[in-house]
Amino acid sequence: MSNAIQENWSKVQQRLRGEVGEDIYSSWFARMDLEAIEDGTVRLSVPTRFLKSWIQSRYVERVLACWQAIDTNVRCVELLVRSAARSCGVKPKGDPETNLRDGQRPGMDNGTSFRPINTGDINMHDALGGSPLDPRLTFQTFVVGRSNTLAHAAAQQVATARRGDPVLFNPLYVHAGVGLGKTHLLQAITWAANGLGERKVLYLTAEKFMYGFVSALRTQTALAFKDALRGIGVLVIDDLQFLQGRSTQAEFCHTLNALIDAGRQVVVASDRPPSDLESLDERVRSRLAGGLVVEMGPLGEDLRLEILKARVLAARAHHPSFDVPAPVLSYIAKAVTHNGRDLEGALNRLLHHSKLTGQPVTLEMAEREVRDLIRPQEPKRVKIEDIQRVVARHYNVSRSDLLSSRRTANVVRPRQVAMYLAKLLTLRSLPEIGRRFGGRDHTTVLHAVRKIEGLVGNDATLAEEIEILKRQLQE
Ligand code: ADP
Ligand code: MG
Repeated sequence: MSNAIQENWSKVQQRLRGEVGEDIYSSWFARMDLEAIEDGTVRLSVPTRFLKSWIQSRYVERVLACWQAIDTNVRCVELLVRSAARSCGVKPKGDPETNLRDGQRPGMDNGTSFRPINTGDINMHDALGGSPLDPRLTFQTFVVGRSNTLAHAAAQQVATARRGDPVLFNPLYVHAGVGLGKTHLLQAITWAANGLGERKVLYLTAEKFMYGFVSALRTQTALAFKDALRGIGVLVIDDLQFLQGRSTQAEFCHTLNALIDAGRQVVVASDRPPSDLESLDERVRSRLAGGLVVEMGPLGEDLRLEILKARVLAARAHHPSFDVPAPVLSYIAKAVTHNGRDLEGALNRLLHHSKLTGQPVTLEMAEREVRDLIRPQEPKRVKIEDIQRVVARHYNVSRSDLLSSRRTANVVRPRQVAMYLAKLLTLRSLPEIGRRFGGRDHTTVLHAVRKIEGLVGNDATLAEEIEILKRQLQE
């Protein structure tokens, strides 16, 4: 693909990001790749059917409009689902899927050699309808740093347990923002546990769980599906936030209970903590929260640098002339702060550029190539509990006062401020905020939000207080 096209694609992404906002962009578009442009048709790929249908039904026109604003020749946008293997940056030698099929063991290419790992009976995983696994997402390629030490340790523990060992934490629930390594860690668990060959391991995205269930119901093999699910030793479910629909949730709840009660390991990843999975039943949420819940934080600069180094080594296995000088690596590690996917994107561009031009990678070239990946620091995810804590402290009341039904003026105002901040700083809905404030009705929350909105216009002291609280919460 020519550089001009790549450049247009970057501009379209930037534009789209600007239009839909960071949250929506990273939820739905962060993993969209440009495949080709032909005769005015832009082909874009996404990793899952679910994303495809979501974008298709809600955003495709917007995407088209963004393209047309950049390139007037574009007439239509087509969405495709790409296979898992090629959705992950630098392509390994050979087709990883074929590697699996002909029984060859996938290895993690760390650039020095092709070290095989024992995958056990991966066909069993396929037979159970598991989601595709990427052979590069293993423990060997997972770089451990401050933000993910705990998650990594727990994941290893879970992966290496033997059948019959006591289950230490169940479920293991990992949550983190986009691109911070959830899928990598979950697939690493799957590969490693599979490699031991002791327990049946099944890795499913939540949507695969939904499709599996829905299609099983349709073909009336629901019983067989349930039996298959319950017969497994380790169930790994990725992107749980996408689990939707009442019957699927009920089934998920049964499966979860059945597995946990039988001492089988369940591992879940999501972009938010269990308490924030609003669409899930309270019982499921508390069951999910009942094991070990670990958050993976943003990748620190050191970790980013290590990931980049590992990636360069991996890429060099296939492109020996590719070299990225240390100052360039430090620059990227410093500048590209967003997430693992952007790091990967940045390196891919350098690789692309150096392959096309045959020129060595320089700092100047890197600055040009990764410019649009450099964004101001992503705003911190603010939690309702933090808001309650900070507001309570500020007004010298207790958190339980905020949640209580007391209506004295000294708690009413702080409570309204806290609800207002919850609406402003989190993505939670009004009913959810009400629930988290001692089970209040959404109209109460709405009233509080309007009240404070109305006051800040005229009350400079309150406006300043709110600014201070906001700053405390966001730093
Ligand atoms: P998530 O599922 O949380 O959105 P992914 O697991 O898909 O994120 O990670 C995004 C990219 O960043 C992947 O290419 C992944 O390999 C890489 N990545 C994230 N964290 C790490 C890590 N600790 N070590 C190595 N690579 C990482
Ligand atoms: Mg993921």
